Amino acid sequence: KNNQLLQSSKMIAVGQLAAGMAHQLRNPLGIIRTHSYLLSHNLSIDHRGQRSLRYIDENVERASSIIDNVMNFWRIADTSISEICLKEFIDSIVVLNADEIRKKELTVEVDCDGALSVRSSQESLKHILMNLIQNAIEAVDEQSGRIIVRARRGNDRILLIDCEDNGCGIPKEEQEFLYNPFFTTKPPGEGTGLGLYIVYSEIERLGGEISLESAVGRGSVFHLRIPDGESPGQNTCGDRKEGTAV
Ligand code: ADP
Ligand code: MG
Repeated sequence: KNNQLLQSSKMIAVGQLAAGMAHQLRNPLGIIRTHSYLLSHNLSIDHRGQRSLRYIDENVERASSIIDNVMNFWRIADTSISEICLKEFIDSIVVLNADEIRKKELTVEVDCDGALSVRSSQESLKHILMNLIQNAIEAVDEQSGRIIVRARRGNDRILLIDCEDNGCGIPKEEQEFLYNPFFTTKPPGEGTGLGLYIVYSEIERLGGEISLESAVGRGSVFHLRIPDGESPGQNTCGDRKEGTAV
């Protein structure tokens, strides 16, 4: 049964708070940097205080690189809508994970009509598929691991995408926390717990829905429903030459 997991304004708020804080911290850090510089120039080169000022500078730099990362992560994404040849697009995202797929000797299938074109945000779709595929890769066993991405158009101009794996599955009691930022079952350093939070945020941005079917020891399927902005009858994928897929 599909598990509806859509309770999220809290999660969106966390992202906005993080980005807002990062932005607000830039000014005070800039002031610390400037005054450390001024102070350093007003002290003689061999003054004992110079050492402290160097520590201050180093740590200001450290703090600002953390801020850059956070800002980068939560930045307002490019949400522009463009026409996407779906099969080609999904293939290109699978290719981004080629190293892992090869290393674990996994089977990855993309089941999508080559002529299917949709109108959506490339950036959002990429975040979504990238994170789902990465999780699937991490969930499956070497060699026997099998991942299938299915995409088709449903009724009412809805784009339906399933990401299925035969991996470890997700226990019922964890399912309600999956989309929370920082929820992870992976060891420190391996999991950030941000993947499904990003997936959720992007789906919400697109006005779509996500649900999950999963059984421990059997595998998982994430079902996505995303509005397709395509005007009826328009379809350019089929006109492209074969062999342009990545
Ligand atoms: P991370 O991958 O960094 O742990 P995510 O937000 O991407 O964070 O995923 C959160 C958790 O959800 C994972 O730690 C894992 O326990 C579970 N999970 C996500 N996708 C799958 C999957 N396809 N199969 C099994 N577990 C999954
Ligand atoms: Mg992940």
